Amino acid sequence: MSASSYAEFYRRSIDSPEAFWAEQARLIDWQTPPARILDDSRPPFVHWFAGGKTNLCHNAVDRHLAQRADQPALIHVSTETGSERTYSFGQLHEEVQRVAASLRALGVAKGDRVLIYMPMIPEAAFAMLACARIGAIHCVVFGGFASGALASRIEDAAPKVVVSADAGSRGGKVVAYKPLLDEAIRLSKHKPEAVLLTDRGLAPMELNPGRDHLDSDLAAGLKSTDVPCEWLDATDISYTIYTSGTTGRPKGVQRDTGGYAVALAASMKHIFDGRPGETYFSTSDIGWVVGQSYIVYGPLIAGMATLMYEGLPTQGMDRGPDGGIWWQLVQKYKVTVMFSAPTAVRVLKKQDPALLKKYDLSSLRALFLAGEPLDEPTARWISEGLGVPIIDNYWQTESGWPIITLASGVENKQAKFGSPGVPMYGYKVKILHESTGEELTAPNEKGVVVIEGPTPPGFMQTVWKDDDRFVNTYWKSVPGRMVYSTFDWGIRDEDGYFYILGRTDDVINVAGHRLGTREIEECISGHNGVAEVAVVGVADALKGQVAMAFAVPKDSLALTDPARALALEGEVMQRVNDELGAVARPARVRFVSALPKTRSGKLLRRAIQAVCEQRDPGDLTTMDDPTSLQQIRQLVQG
Ligand code: ATP
Ligand code: MG
Repeated sequence: MSASSYAEFYRRSIDSPEAFWAEQARLIDWQTPPARILDDSRPPFVHWFAGGKTNLCHNAVDRHLAQRADQPALIHVSTETGSERTYSFGQLHEEVQRVAASLRALGVAKGDRVLIYMPMIPEAAFAMLACARIGAIHCVVFGGFASGALASRIEDAAPKVVVSADAGSRGGKVVAYKPLLDEAIRLSKHKPEAVLLTDRGLAPMELNPGRDHLDSDLAAGLKSTDVPCEWLDATDISYTIYTSGTTGRPKGVQRDTGGYAVALAASMKHIFDGRPGETYFSTSDIGWVVGQSYIVYGPLIAGMATLMYEGLPTQGMDRGPDGGIWWQLVQKYKVTVMFSAPTAVRVLKKQDPALLKKYDLSSLRALFLAGEPLDEPTARWISEGLGVPIIDNYWQTESGWPIITLASGVENKQAKFGSPGVPMYGYKVKILHESTGEELTAPNEKGVVVIEGPTPPGFMQTVWKDDDRFVNTYWKSVPGRMVYSTFDWGIRDEDGYFYILGRTDDVINVAGHRLGTREIEECISGHNGVAEVAVVGVADALKGQVAMAFAVPKDSLALTDPARALALEGEVMQRVNDELGAVARPARVRFVSALPKTRSGKLLRRAIQAVCEQRDPGDLTTMDDPTSLQQIRQLVQG
């Protein structure tokens, strides 16, 4: 294609959205084609493909049966249980119908909610697709959450049925889910009518008579497991999913059916360049939006096999340590497209780099990373190790698919370190002055990254049961303008590439200077003694705020030897001083063995800041490792 083709492609999506998306809509099957492509008569709400009837499960499974019934659809690998199994499209079709029939038997009908609280096992994907098949709204809750986080989501989603399992497993340690679920249902004001359970044989389960059903028992009693797809309106709700809760109370993101299917099909073609018959490997979890879009629906809609992995990135099939497991799987299943997160790559970075060279990775065309800023040292390390393009992509639970990245399926544009790329087709991304709302058009001016409506297909419809929260939270934060705020800072360079500089609440003000914590973090992580770092602003009587850094050292001696810690702290301070100036220099650099993160791997700067200021860190139900915050508390108080 010609060098200017992405620019043209993008232009067309903005200037003639109806023609553009009508064409993309042909990438999926419709039972009834849409009567109207775009209806944005009631902004900021948008209706895509009104009048069209389709089904996500049909597009992910049934439509491939004619051509690839015997080809792999779902490859499941668990290094937690040492199991490995491939389901063809034909087998997937049967499994999904069985679960759909079971849900029907439990009284689930179109529009009913089904909450899925599952480990990374095939049954979780079957349940999602089964819901889509019968028009039930699924709400997947990350299986690593405990009762409190689960209870609030059960209450908000008000599911008729909960689908779960006896247990999950993490690093070889079994986590019994059933007691957590029972406790969550006890805590929740809403009580589901039934619970459908998969017994993996990992933990004993006590069944609550009349409410709890084993999936195998229920399926054995079914008269028929033939469940045709229910044709849904394009604008019918497909699912809800909660944001990660990095900045506060999670928001229930609600998505449609037709727009989402089209957006995913288009992204598989234009962004991921994944082709039918190939294998896609996303290391995320079905509890996160990446898992919904790119473990389950996206690859299957594209006719690809999807590799679903349960386990740590550092554990082998024999459950012993193995930092090369992902690359072993890439080789074995000839993965062409891989999707992961910077936080996972930083874990691997601590391993022997030779592990990357041990396997034949020639099938791999690109590695996509999303979820957090991709720092340059991490990007360089993985890029040199793999020898394939590393494509950063910026998006949110709200968007459902990338907002800013490179569309390699349209044009091979050069990636720039530190930048996810350019706005994707359909997204009118702007940078606005945070208080005046004025658009910043000159290169490298820093402002809030916003999206002008109408938002493209796949984007959230609203906040579940709360249109007001949708409008007030997202669309009214910039004075005088109805634009969607991402709540992230960014700049655009002279070539139109965007750089995300962190969240709008991660800016600190030192003696009148406004500094992004991301910049300071980027500088500190460039020191080769530092594996990971978080910088927060802490209230200071004299300067307003000061920067405080918490770093994980590569050499753990810095954790125990005060002289080493002091020397490393001095070097880090010097580096910030030299690169960013004295004003950005943190008041202290403290060393910890781990940083507080959400279970999706995002830094909880909000909680660190609260602890530093001796405030209540608030809702920590979604935090990964509570001892990490404890370490910081001790350092601060000690
Ligand atoms: P909450 O909205 O509940 O506080 P969250 O924002 O962490 O949680 P997600 O939707 O999972 O929930 O994360 C989206 C955010 O992650 C983005 O707004 C951005 O801050 C960050 N992010 C995602 N991808 C990138 C990327 N490639 N580069 C920089 N930041 C990214
Ligand atoms: Mg967010």
